[in-house]
Amino acid sequence: MKIAVQTESPELAPQSSDPLDHLADVLFHRMGSDGVYARTALYEDVVERLTALISRHREPNTEVMRFPPVMSRAQLEKSGYLKSFPNLLGCVCGLHGTEREIHAAVSRFDAGGDWTTSLSPADLVLSPAACYPVYPIAAARGPLPAGGLRFDVAADCFRREPSRHLDRLQSFRMREYVCIGSPDDVSAFRERWMVRAQGIARDLGLTFRVDQASDPFFGRVGQMKAVSQKQQSLKFELLVPLRSQEQPTACMSFNYHRDHFGTTWGIKDVDGEPAHTGCVAFGMDRLAVAMFHTHGTDLRQWPAKVRDALELSAHSAADAHVEGWR
Ligand code: ATP
Ligand code: ZN
Ligand code: MG
Repeated sequence: MKIAVQTESPELAPQSSDPLDHLADVLFHRMGSDGVYARTALYEDVVERLTALISRHREPNTEVMRFPPVMSRAQLEKSGYLKSFPNLLGCVCGLHGTEREIHAAVSRFDAGGDWTTSLSPADLVLSPAACYPVYPIAAARGPLPAGGLRFDVAADCFRREPSRHLDRLQSFRMREYVCIGSPDDVSAFRERWMVRAQGIARDLGLTFRVDQASDPFFGRVGQMKAVSQKQQSLKFELLVPLRSQEQPTACMSFNYHRDHFGTTWGIKDVDGEPAHTGCVAFGMDRLAVAMFHTHGTDLRQWPAKVRDALELSAHSAADAHVEGWR
């Protein structure tokens, strides 16, 4: 009788099977850490096409800003992030000591020891969501105009929630439309986007439902915050059943922060009241994984209407071009 010999390194061997696992080899290359992946050209092309589709739906008078993957630690602290999700935050650290101290840390490492005990925090954190930096920028511009302000923002985001599931990454792309204005401006904005986003999901051929949701606030007090968030209908999600109907995956969220950021940053609406804010967030990596899970990994086999929505049909694009000259 032969004894099975494990030839793969444990890091590469799948530990448990998950309905999304079959996509891993086509979409990603492992980088030695769960939830952090290099992306294949096939995958990245679809992310770019989804990005372009979302841009085509941008409302007029929306200012575009792109943020780096890090942001000011002081700003995130002031935003109240540590009260809600301290467990998810990643902080930039560095060797800030003297030349002597830094040499000592490296020597410890060279001798097989731990260099990281010499790290100290920098003034930066890894952005946990795309919209945090926009509120202080808006605040610096003074009182809001009538109708409020709208922004289109995006960032590479980090959340310390390692998982082997391909729809829960530690490093992922988030795109958001943000509204800062009066309560009416923000409610109307969120209503419009809940309708529009479902149109986008339909165009993408996704199976979905929209449901009330709450954020995974940390700790026992956090559970109470989540209940109150749900009672006040502050968060909705567009859910796609990727691994099961019972535990669907949130690919977009529609958030109403009330006057939280307006009060924190001193943003005043046109009536001089603390501004209200809301955002619609698109999880770009989750949307892309959902597309491959739903339609397969051969883009030529995707439904014609989905290919059109993503401008994948080179043929129909060429036709449209000719059409324009007639
Ligand atoms: P979940 O309940 O699944 O953890 P969330 O409520 O934390 O989601 P939001 O904070 O609303 O998500 O973030 C906006 C969007 O970013 C989500 O709807 C999702 O599409 C995406 N997103 C959030 N966390 C992750 C993650 N760990 N990996 C990939 N995408 C994510
Ligand atoms: Zn947001
Ligand atoms: Mg979460």
